Amino acid sequence: MTLEATCCCKQVSITVSAQPEMNSVCHCTNCKQRTGSAFGISTYFKTDAVLNMSGDTRIYTLWHQEQNHEQKRYFCSSCGTTLYWTISTMPDYIGIAGGCFAASEILEPAYTLNNSNKCQWVSFPSNWQVEE
Ligand SMILES: [Zn+2]
Ligand SMILES: [Zn+2]
Repeated sequence: MTLEATCCCKQVSITVSAQPEMNSVCHCTNCKQRTGSAFGISTYFKTDAVLNMSGDTRIYTLWHQEQNHEQKRYFCSSCGTTLYWTISTMPDYIGIAGGCFAASEILEPAYTLNNSNKCQWVSFPSNWQVEE
């Protein structure tokens, strides 16, 4: 089984060989800004599950205040979509923007975090694990 995530203009893609190890919806301000949406879907895969990366990316580094770690974000040099990232505290994992798996549906997220910053009108299935 393979899953492919692509940017808006489809020049950058990443292919993985498995469903994510971790899959969450995050309401922090940073995820809202990264996606331009009400929340981010962050899927994390073991780096050895990455089968292919292609396309021209640029990188920015940021200190994630809420989570107390450094992230390197890889975005398409043409359309600007942030497609994947690495986190200083999880060197064996790669994060991929869940919404970018446009053609291959990923499993339902298991939990939701930074809920204190959640938009009032967003609600989730009651079986999800909630982290404030
Ligand atoms: Zn692009
Ligand atoms: Zn977040």
